[in-house]
Amino acid sequence: MTLPTHVRQTEPFRWEDIPLLAYKEDGGTHFRGVTRQILFPGSATLPAQLRYFEVAEGGHSTLERHEHEHSVMIVRGAGAVLVGMRIHRLATGDLVHVPPGTWHQFRASTNAPLGFLCLVCSERDKPVRPAPGDLEQLRADPAVASFIRV
Ligand code: MN
Repeated sequence: MTLPTHVRQTEPFRWEDIPLLAYKEDGGTHFRGVTRQILFPGSATLPAQLRYFEVAEGGHSTLERHEHEHSVMIVRGAGAVLVGMRIHRLATGDLVHVPPGTWHQFRASTNAPLGFLCLVCSERDKPVRPAPGDLEQLRADPAVASFIRV
C-alpha cells in the first residue's frame, strides 16, 4: 500500500480520508467517550502506528495493561493518567510513556476533552483488563481507588 504523501487537516483533529473509528471494536462499558483515528498505519519499513485518540470531557479509556509500550503526546485539552500506581495531571504538550506490563488509564478533564497522539508497534499483544485480584492491589492505594473506572 502506498501511503499518501500529504494528508490535509479538514478541521481541528480531523484529517482527509481518515475515518473516525470506535475506540474498541467490542464496545463495552469499561471506557467512555473515546474515538480513534489511525494517522499512520505503519509499513514493512516503519513497523509502527501513530494514532490520535480523543477522550470526551468526563470520559476515560480502558484500564488495561499489555507487553507493548505507548509513547504519547497530549495535543488537545487536559486530563490525567494513571501509569502503574501513579496519577499524573496532563496538559497540552505533555509527554507520557507507558512501559510494558504497566496498568494505565487516561481520563479527560470534566470540562475539556483529552486528545493525544499514541505511538505503538504494529505487531503487538492484546490489552488485558484487571482481574479481581489486580483490582484489589490497585485499590489498596486510595488515590488509585478513586481514580480508576472499570
Ligand atoms: Mn494501552
